[in-house]
Amino acid sequence: MLCSPEALLQKNQALSDTWQRYLATPNFENFVELAISINSLTEFLIDKGVTALHHASHQLEQVTLTLFHQDVVHPLPQAALDDLNERVQALERMTQARATNSLDTLPRDPVFIAPPNMRTGHAWLIGNSHAAWTDLLTQLGYFGMTTKFMAWDQPMVDSADTAPLLLLDMGGLPETEWRDRIQALRQQFPMGQLICLEVASDFDQLQQALQSGCDNCLLKNTPTHAIVEHIMELNERHDQEAYRVLIVEDSKTAGHFIHRTLAEIQIQSHIVNDPRQTLNALKQFNPDLILMDMYMPNCTGVEVARIIRQHSEFLSIPIVYLSGETNVALQVDAMRLGGDHFLTKPFNPVFLNTIVKSKIERYRALRRSMYHDSLTGLLNHSSGKNMLEIVLSGVVHEGGFLSVVMLDIDHFKQVNDSYGHPIGDQVIRSLSWLLKQRLRKHDMICRYGGEEFLIGLPHTDSEQAYSIMERIRHDFSQIHHPHGDSYFLTTISAGIATYPLAQTGDALIKTADQALYQAKHGGRNRIHISEH
Ligand code: GH3
Ligand code: MG
Ligand code: MG
Ligand code: MG
Repeated sequence: MLCSPEALLQKNQALSDTWQRYLATPNFENFVELAISINSLTEFLIDKGVTALHHASHQLEQVTLTLFHQDVVHPLPQAALDDLNERVQALERMTQARATNSLDTLPRDPVFIAPPNMRTGHAWLIGNSHAAWTDLLTQLGYFGMTTKFMAWDQPMVDSADTAPLLLLDMGGLPETEWRDRIQALRQQFPMGQLICLEVASDFDQLQQALQSGCDNCLLKNTPTHAIVEHIMELNERHDQEAYRVLIVEDSKTAGHFIHRTLAEIQIQSHIVNDPRQTLNALKQFNPDLILMDMYMPNCTGVEVARIIRQHSEFLSIPIVYLSGETNVALQVDAMRLGGDHFLTKPFNPVFLNTIVKSKIERYRALRRSMYHDSLTGLLNHSSGKNMLEIVLSGVVHEGGFLSVVMLDIDHFKQVNDSYGHPIGDQVIRSLSWLLKQRLRKHDMICRYGGEEFLIGLPHTDSEQAYSIMERIRHDFSQIHHPHGDSYFLTTISAGIATYPLAQTGDALIKTADQALYQAKHGGRNRIHISEH
């Protein structure tokens, strides 16, 4: 959800530079560079959810793509040049104005002060009645967001933030004012997420809100927990590792060109010029996709693909062929032997990026379903145990502590019995959001069993682990779990074991589990450190 103005300005500068380079030397190569940087900006804006700018950038991309033929003569005709120039300039002006606008920050008066290791966000609610939204704001606070209420009639001068989440209570605003208000906020917070609340399920209302620049609308009477859920999911979306591509290509120039093209949309790549090095590179680089040249000195791309597919761990990795080949029969053969797509050279870089990105998205989704739990998105039991071993060996190697926490929801059977299994599931999900928000990126969180979680906190001694978990315990106990028109509360207990007091993964889990038992025995809603 976060997008820094600096990153946007950098992208903007790159586009401006490539455009100037094209104007100075208007040839096909420089036009390709221009297309790449426009595509890069567009992808960036889509990724960060910057709707207003994305629209202009996308249109520029479309215009560029229609001019993307080798038989288009460069320099382009004057009319096309003028059109492009105008679009590039307009986009630059918009980007510049909006990024500069959100550069200053202002001290906030948070409901909740976040500890430094927490992954937080800032949410502002703009509406007429603070009282109507205190419940939502308090709940967001427990999930680690700093929140603030502002009235529609309160001027918002200087209230800038790097990328706030703006929740707009549209219910309290006459429909005739919607467009101006949303547009003004969009202008002031180009990097922010704009969510309209209390919108009727009405075509005109929705169209007006979305056209004016809001990112999402939540319909009238959406319950508080569903709003919280929506916001938590937005938070999760951008929280993933960079995509990795292995390029198997004998031509150094071609390899380098692809590498740079992919880098424009933040995809990391590694080039193998000698196809015999492919297996080593696969194991070391662990890519999400392979771009495979068709013709190389020692063997063909199809042969390499067959060799790759002899390894069960590489059976499903997508392979996209690159070739000047227009022979359809050969392409059919290549696909039959384990290829996923065929790109003919000289390929359009925007097309290359789009194909690569969408294939990787699907591949990642497939892998996620293998290693992660579907209810919470956390590591599942077996991959959690594997990951704990990996984290442990890192700590053993580097020296230091590793705290392992076994956590369990108290009297969860009663939750299911009183409110039903689906509500129980929702409680499990809200605990998993809380854990994801409170723990650091390199901490390990796993759904170990039904309502049991295994957590690994590297470089954290038992006292530190205790204070982290104690805070989570307290805040979880304050979260309102909705049930009908009312809500209920529930608590957790946890046990902590720490390396090097226990030495192996299994011993850490067992000791933490014994400490959890002590916490339960001692009355629940508490954290117990193993005296081991
Ligand atoms: P304690 O405080 O001792 O932990 O009491 P408890 O009731 O939580 O006892 P226990 O941990 O043994 O019970 C776990 C219950 O969690 C049993 C099972 O019905 C329920 N459960 C397990 N997995 C799920 C799940 O995925 N969803 C839901 N809704 N319930 C689950
Ligand atoms: Mg070749
Ligand atoms: Mg339990
Ligand atoms: Mg249990």
